[in-house]
Amino acid sequence: CGEGVYNFAAGPATLPPEVLERARASLSDWQGLGYSLLEAPFTGDEFKALMDITRLQVKTALAVPDRYQVIFLQGGASAQFSLVPLNLLPPKATAGYVETGHWSARALEEGRRYGNSHLAASTRKSGFDRVPAVSEWALSDDIHYCHITPNETANGVQFPEDPDCGEIPLIADMTSEFLSRAVDIERYGMIYAGTQKNLGPTGLVIAIIREDLLGQARPETPTVFNYQTQIEHQNHINTPLMFGIYLVHLMLDWLEEQGGVSAIHPHNIVQSEALYRIIDEDDFFYCPVMPEYRSIMNVCFGTRDESHQQRFLAEAEAMGLMNLAGHSHAGGLRASLYNAQPDAAVAALASFMTSFRKRYG
Ligand code: PMP
Repeated sequence: CGEGVYNFAAGPATLPPEVLERARASLSDWQGLGYSLLEAPFTGDEFKALMDITRLQVKTALAVPDRYQVIFLQGGASAQFSLVPLNLLPPKATAGYVETGHWSARALEEGRRYGNSHLAASTRKSGFDRVPAVSEWALSDDIHYCHITPNETANGVQFPEDPDCGEIPLIADMTSEFLSRAVDIERYGMIYAGTQKNLGPTGLVIAIIREDLLGQARPETPTVFNYQTQIEHQNHINTPLMFGIYLVHLMLDWLEEQGGVSAIHPHNIVQSEALYRIIDEDDFFYCPVMPEYRSIMNVCFGTRDESHQQRFLAEAEAMGLMNLAGHSHAGGLRASLYNAQPDAAVAALASFMTSFRKRYG
């Protein structure tokens, strides 16, 4: 961001200035090749090494066990709503879905095109205000896997822990919380994440898949989206999103410099609590999510008097506090606090919220 400008967008989102600087440098001469990364062949040793390192960085950052594979895919997180069933769900099998907000609803809607989709649990009736306990999920024995969205970007609802579904593989869309916390990978059959939140590039997806789930893709699965085929070809069955993968590599370097997920997680909690504290102080603001399920990445809130909302956004923008409008489906206000959100941004927003309340409350 420019001087005095803070970006609270939900993704693409703010990135550390030092990462942007490193990315810029790759646009002149990359690794002494004499040309930029944008002009480098994807089959060259330099790029192959970059992909290997980045894959290893993901594995290391999340302590991914050996029996899981990491791949880079294209099409953004939404494409996975279709590619997960095409790769992992036999035609007559049933997939379970836990609906906790806008993005899990989208995953369910798309999943219905590929097989039997079963709504295992939903909080739609209570306005997506919480995460249902696993004991409330209707998981019959014939469920092939259960899909969840541990952080609902539009609704500001986050799972307080990795659910335990026993033998049923959990498939998680971690797009908006990926690498913000440690994850008990063994509880999941597959994790996927679009990288435009904590890692930068749009269109790129990182998928972590347990090996025993591979090998059941439907014949009509496009080859470039076949998880197993990509793994067998070292992710080179087509031209990968090279610059995006480089940005992810730089962001993983940066995350390591911050102390990794174990250090960034408490930091994220402190930042979000600073805003929730103001929201809860009195009746001026409200948060639609029950306290124990509030997201540490996407703080969704509103002003009780709706007429204040547009004024809040306009005044915030005039002060350089950008992109605070809520998701179009959820309305209200939203401050996204991904890993790279500086403390100064949170302090500036907290101070603005307090002064706004004093002036209009
Ligand atoms: N899932 C979640 C949880 C998201 O937050 C988003 C994007 N906001 C998506 C899926 C869709 O991502 P994409 O635009 O990369 O398809």
